Amino acid sequence: MTDISIRITGHAGRITLQRAHALNAMTYEMCVAIEAAMDAWANDSAVKLVVIDAEGDRAFCSGGDIAELYETGTKGDFAYGQKFWADEYRLNHKIFHYPKPVVSFLQGFTMGGGVGIGCHGSHRIVGDTSQIAMPECGIGLVPDVGGSLMLALAPGRLGEYLGTTAARMNAGDAIFAGFADHYIAEDRWPALITTLEQTGDVACVTDAATAPAPGPLQAAMADIDRHFHGASLSDILTTLRAEDSDFARDTLKRMGRNSPLSMACAIETLHRLRGPSLTLEKALDLEYRFTARAMEHGDFLEGIRAAIIDKDRSPNWQYADQNVPPTAISKMLMPLGKLALNLGGTGMKIGFIGLGNMGAPMAVNLAQAGHAVTGFDVTGTGPAGMAMAASAAEAAAGRDIVITMLPNGDILRAVAAEVIPAMSQGATLIDCSTVDVDSARAVAAQADAAGVGCVDAPVSGGIGGAAGGSLTFMAGGSTAAFEAAEPLFDIMGQKAVHCGDAGAGQAAKICNNMILGVTMIATCEAFALADKLGLDRQKMFDVVSTSSGYSWTMNAYCPAPGVGPTSPADNGYTPGFAAELMLKDLGLSQQAAEAADADTPMGQAALALYRQFVEDEGGKGKDFSAMLPRFVDRGRP
Ligand code: NAD
Repeated sequence: MTDISIRITGHAGRITLQRAHALNAMTYEMCVAIEAAMDAWANDSAVKLVVIDAEGDRAFCSGGDIAELYETGTKGDFAYGQKFWADEYRLNHKIFHYPKPVVSFLQGFTMGGGVGIGCHGSHRIVGDTSQIAMPECGIGLVPDVGGSLMLALAPGRLGEYLGTTAARMNAGDAIFAGFADHYIAEDRWPALITTLEQTGDVACVTDAATAPAPGPLQAAMADIDRHFHGASLSDILTTLRAEDSDFARDTLKRMGRNSPLSMACAIETLHRLRGPSLTLEKALDLEYRFTARAMEHGDFLEGIRAAIIDKDRSPNWQYADQNVPPTAISKMLMPLGKLALNLGGTGMKIGFIGLGNMGAPMAVNLAQAGHAVTGFDVTGTGPAGMAMAASAAEAAAGRDIVITMLPNGDILRAVAAEVIPAMSQGATLIDCSTVDVDSARAVAAQADAAGVGCVDAPVSGGIGGAAGGSLTFMAGGSTAAFEAAEPLFDIMGQKAVHCGDAGAGQAAKICNNMILGVTMIATCEAFALADKLGLDRQKMFDVVSTSSGYSWTMNAYCPAPGVGPTSPADNGYTPGFAAELMLKDLGLSQQAAEAADADTPMGQAALALYRQFVEDEGGKGKDFSAMLPRFVDRGRP
């Protein structure tokens, strides 16, 4: 292949990009060739290190070659792009974890795909012409190739700024932002490469490095942090538009060229990644959720059309910049199930106990992501195709992880007493049921005594979230147990918050569901009142869902049939989330409130109403939103 030279020179595995006429943009074939060479050299004792450089003085690598992606994507072939990105990300991952030093020389432009091969090695060298950037939002993608890892780790809010503006970093800024390690004057690079080849020793790199002048972005950090700390794209744009300054004007101009959906997703990606459990694997997985959908649901094809096909530079993005719906962001970043990025790791062995409304779809998502799931339920039934055990102990024996999704604390205690002795030391028990804090703590203590990790991780999101893999997990337990559970949370959900020690997840859940019970009652009451005032339910929804009365119960789970997104109300109030489960949760919150001496009058009233509904008014077996027909049928007491 003439686009790339791969050889061994002295002690060095040598990779030289040779497409200078195309700014060394990386083709799929180049990506495959680099991976094959890296694989071969990993166990070749003749190769002590790898040196990656590029011909020409304008660019190390200006990105991935996107023309081919456009051609296949516009014909409806999305699989080609998905394979391109998955294989590229696997290479990026390999470079990051390479067992030998990888030294890259980054002259001129290093952008997008160039960052993926140039900025994950152990020694990343920049010089006076270096300009590094993540410009993906300009073509309807998000910063990818593992770039979101560096962006999430960059100081302050520099990551959000770089990811949404595509601003270029010079040598000083690239080192400041964590995209490069060493500044070495470029006229010294040829001799340095020769020394690396001759010695196979990277000591010469640190010896040759000097401190670069601080870059302009470093000087702008106060402005960057002030404007980019917002929770969403809209927040960031609002503060920028409110300020009359060169920084705000320049930043808005840069952002004005980019896809709003991409920028909103890039910001959400960084917010989700930032934190103590950040890994490259997590970053690549999240990036791939977007890129795998980018052609079909994102702005990618339109972005390429405007940039390199028609070259009109006026893309017709799907959304206005202040108007990207949160649901569109969630849709792009939802787990991919069986299409999830596979970096070559092996699946875990998982036992899943309790395969009801919630447990069954959660177990299916884990199996589809490549894990070996064995299920158990007292009913003896499970999802089609899933291996089933004859007892809870059998489902737990020899598994890396055991997950329980059960009706209540008593059942959890009984199941835990059976499975913990069957579990291997070092395995982890994740209980996703909603139970009382005491049961969660008792099970955690029992697991601890048996050398088994334990996380109480109740969920929010309902059966829709369980099926769509978009649950929120609120977790309690040790950091080690949480980290063991986290890759599975990433598959079953879109967010996991480590709330504290054992029982903290249940505490968060109880508080959340007390709010949920109260707001569902308030929403149903308001619809019943609206009916009696002659107000059309749809009009009521249109107003409240975008006014200060909005809530999850109104906007996402509307109790009025035919109004808002599809919910159990549209299915005759078949659960969903059964009224008796809400009664259970409200009981748990009042039990906890009593023990903690907390005054919770609304929670108390909600408990009384749900008790009456379930025990005396036929609410048992109906969804908890069936409170609406209950109110409609009544007058004032
Ligand atoms: P479910 O009743 O549909 O499922 C519970 C399952 O556990 C059933 O299939 C049952 O047969 C099984 N089970 C009972 N005892 C068992 C035992 N000893 N061994 C093995 N299996 C046993 O309930 P669900 O809606 O799936 O809820 C499960 C948990 O999730 C509850 O704690 C609930 O509060 C919580 N939750 C539910 C929702 C929701 O929307 N449904 C939302 C958030 C949290």
